[in-house]
Parts: sequence; C-alpha cells; structure tokens
Amino acid sequence: MSFRGLDAIDVLRKVFGYDEFRGEQQHIIEHVVGGGDALVLMPTGGGKSLCYQIPALVRDGVGIVVSPLIALMADQVDALTALGVRAGFLNSTQDFEQRRLVEQEFLAGELDLLYLAPERLGVPATQRLLERGTISLFAIDEAHCVSQWGHDFRPDYLGLSMLHERWPDVPRIALTATATPATHTEIAQRLNLTGARHFVASFDRPNIQYRIVPKGEPRKQLLQVLRSEHDGDAGIVYCLSRASVEKTAAFLTDQGIEALPYHAGLDARTRATNQSRFLREDGIVMVATIAFGMGIDKPDVRFVAHLDLPKSVEGYYQETGRAGRDGLPSTAWLAYGLADVVQQRKMIDDSDGDDAHRRQLTAHLDAMLALCETVQCRRVRLLDYFGESAQPCGNCDTCLDPPASWDGTVPAQKLLSTVLRLDRERGQRFGVGQAIDILLGKQTPKVTQHRHDQLSVFGVGSDLTEAQWRTVTRQLLAQGLLNVEGDYGTLVLTERSADVLRGQHTVRLRTEPERRKAAKTKRAS
Ligand code: ADP
Ligand code: ZN
Repeated sequence: MSFRGLDAIDVLRKVFGYDEFRGEQQHIIEHVVGGGDALVLMPTGGGKSLCYQIPALVRDGVGIVVSPLIALMADQVDALTALGVRAGFLNSTQDFEQRRLVEQEFLAGELDLLYLAPERLGVPATQRLLERGTISLFAIDEAHCVSQWGHDFRPDYLGLSMLHERWPDVPRIALTATATPATHTEIAQRLNLTGARHFVASFDRPNIQYRIVPKGEPRKQLLQVLRSEHDGDAGIVYCLSRASVEKTAAFLTDQGIEALPYHAGLDARTRATNQSRFLREDGIVMVATIAFGMGIDKPDVRFVAHLDLPKSVEGYYQETGRAGRDGLPSTAWLAYGLADVVQQRKMIDDSDGDDAHRRQLTAHLDAMLALCETVQCRRVRLLDYFGESAQPCGNCDTCLDPPASWDGTVPAQKLLSTVLRLDRERGQRFGVGQAIDILLGKQTPKVTQHRHDQLSVFGVGSDLTEAQWRTVTRQLLAQGLLNVEGDYGTLVLTERSADVLRGQHTVRLRTEPERRKAAKTKRAS
C-alpha cells in the first residue's frame, strides 16, 4: 500500500481502522509531520505508537524506531505487516542472512518503519547503513531508559544523543509512560532534545482501582482477592524474588488457578512460551518478577497484584498501568509490611554505587512508602507525584474506607527509647524482633542472655500486640523517624528521632483496617 499523499487522518482511518484521534495524538502527529522534535509523556495504553507510526507513513523515507523491547519487535512488525505497513527490525535475535535482507529492503526504500535495538545504533556499520537511506524520523520509545537513576536504565540510550548531530534535519520523537517532572528534564537533556515540544497527557487511569493492604499471609490474601473479585480473569502478580515467583505460581496452581511463572532465571524458551500463552489464552495469571511486562500489550489484564513493595512510585505506576488498557474496571492490589521496608532499606545499603546513588534510591523508596501510608486518596497522591493535581477519586481503598489516624507519639517514644538503649550496647546489634520482645516484656533466651529484662523499657509496651508493634515500627521507618542498618536489620535512630523523644514532634499513625475491624467486632460483641 502506498501512503504518500495521504493525510494523517486518512492513514488513521484507512490503515489503522480507527475513526478519531485520541487525546493529543493529532497535535503530536502534526508537529512531527511538520519536522518538529517532540517529547511525549503518555500513560501506558494512551496510544503512543500511532504518534510515530503515522508520521513515519506520511513523511518521506523510513521511520527508525529505537526500542529496548527486542522480544516484542517481531510481534510489533507482524501486527504492522498485517495492516499493510512495510516494517522490519534489526536485532541480535537474527542471523547474518536475515539482517542482510532487512538492510536491503531499507536501502531500496521498501520499508516504512524499521525497529532497532539501541545497541545496534551504536554500531558504526549501522550508522553507515542509515546514512545511505532516507530517514523520515527517529522515534525513541521507552525514553525513560536514558535516565541513569531510573529503574530501567540502559547505557546504550546515552549514545542516542548523537542522532541530532548526525541527522540534524530528521525529526525526533521520544516517548515514555514514566514521567516525574524531574525525569522529563533529564530525558530532554540526555537525548539532546532541549528544543523539543513537550506533550504531557494526564497520567490518570480512572478505571484502575488502587488498593494497598497490610501484609499478613500474602498468598492467602491474594487468593481471597482473586476468588472473590477476579475469578477466571487474566492478571499479573509481581514478586521480588525468583523463588517467591515459583512458590506463588505453584500455590495458585494448587488452588486450581491457571498460573505461570516468569523470571530471568527461566530459560528463554520457557519464558517465551509462558509470555505467549499469557497473551493469547484467556484467564492466565502471570506470576513474575519485574523482568516481565514492559511493552506487553494485552488489553484485558484485569488485575495487577504486588506481593512485595515496589522500589519506587514510577515502578509501581508502570506495573499497575498494565492493568485495564481496554478501559474496563481493573484492580491494582499491593500487600506490604514491615519486612518489605527492612529488606529494601538493606538492599539500598548493600547496593553498588556512590552515596548520591543511595540517596536517590532512598528518596524513591520513601516516596513509595508515603503512598502506602497515606490517609489521603491514593490517586491524588499518585498523580501528585507526577506533578498533576486531582480530586479524591471515590474509588480507591482510602476513599472507600477512609483510614483513621491516631496519636502514636507515646508508643513511638517507647520504641525509640528501646532502640536508643540497645544502640548504647557497643558492638551488639539487635533487630526489630528483639526490640518488640523487650517492649512486650517477653523473657526469651536472647532477652535474658543480654539482660534486657533489666532495661527500664522492659514490658512498657504490653498495651499493644506484637502485630501492632510491627505496624508502629513500619510506620516510623516509613516516616523516617527510624532507620535500619547492616546485615541484620539493626534498628537505628535518625536525626529526627530526637524530636520525638523530646516530645517536640507528634507522631500520627495510620489505623490499620484489620485493627479497626477487630475493634468494631469487639464493640459489637
Ligand atoms: P502505549 O504505547 O501508549 O502503551 P499503544 O500505542 O499500544 O499504547 O495503544 C494502546 C491501544 O490503544 C492499542 O490497542 C491501540 O491500537 C489503541 N489506540 C491507539 N490510538 C487509538 C485511537 N485513536 N483510536 C482507537 N484506538 C486507539
Ligand atoms: Zn481515591
């Protein structure tokens, strides 16, 4: 099919079969067709692909699409081919002969779109090849991969800044669904796109219901959610470790739910089979590490569940964004607990890189924790993180069942003074468990051995249960009033702890739904 001479709207209708542009698509497309550079920030499912596919068809030459999603290139090219668009790709999965054929098509002007992995573009031979053809535009997909502190950093993306120098007249369009205001600026700078027009769509996904619950027995809690709300639905369950992916997939399978594992430790064939079953069959639950999902276009994912705390709000938003691309009601469900906070702080402590890097990771984690512990609408907080203001949504857990808060200053002081006393025992390191045993006045062997039953704080916390103390600890960690350090998760005070101990800072804690429910039942009986 020839597209030359067609308008953008004709291409939308004749080639893609849609009636109207969505959101900012038309403005973006007109800008790029006219030769302008663009930075496009649009949530997952917003319709980014057409923003470069249509200009590539309307303009002269071949549109070069840089994408890190090698595993999906063949699918994308097949889908375009089925629409009559001439598309090809070059990546490491091809042999020499396959690549040579695509190169010939490119040089002969027989392609409309050519997908390339970023590492290909860095190769001088590829650059020479591109110089011998006519290029209509460069599209840089998943542009946040250029952000060095982001969760998807790809070093090869840094090299893309050279596109502007070598092809100053070819328009570039960078696209991403991840975007805090700070990331926009970073992407524009690193890709040398400082003159580009920014198109920022709303990041709200109104059909997604956000829920964050305290973690008890996460697999059983998940099962309960699936059985009561998502029977037979397709969904993704994210776990932090490969072992926990395997365990969870096995658990769900035992319960009669069709669940498949996906993580980087599985061989490529199993991964490919599981991914394609998830995409093609109905009602499959994919249990995966975050290695799974980028670029996956399955419209009817009805739920995304997290059994472990994501490392950042960006990550959480991306992962939950894979639910409900078709616009129908979907659930984003996250279970999180004290152990998550301790584990993630420890991972940051152990991470490679300098202090600045660790501070970045800590800031990301803190923002995620603030979202978990908020008593406000989740959507308001989430959008606020992306620089958008919104009204309470009426559809998230905190809107539907507003959490109460209570004055936790006294318990906080008790816990912090216990930590202070333990910290004075030079050379000895104690974690959360020991502090709580002391507060509860438990005569465990470890308590007696270290004479912790002699401390003035021994037993002063018997008014709360162990579970409640864990909640208090978690919230103090989340608020930065307490920290953990080292291999054993030793509790340590922070600069701000002193204000609490001196009574200069009131600590507001969120009442856990479980606790409230228990309290209500007690009153009822
Ligand atoms: P993104 O890359 O932003 O996640 P896609 O480009 O994959 O989103 O588009 C998401 C879905 O929306 C796709 O199924 C696509 O075909 C569809 N879509 C995009 N633009 C339109 C439009 N103008 N009208 C109808 N459907 C559209
Ligand atoms: Zn809400």
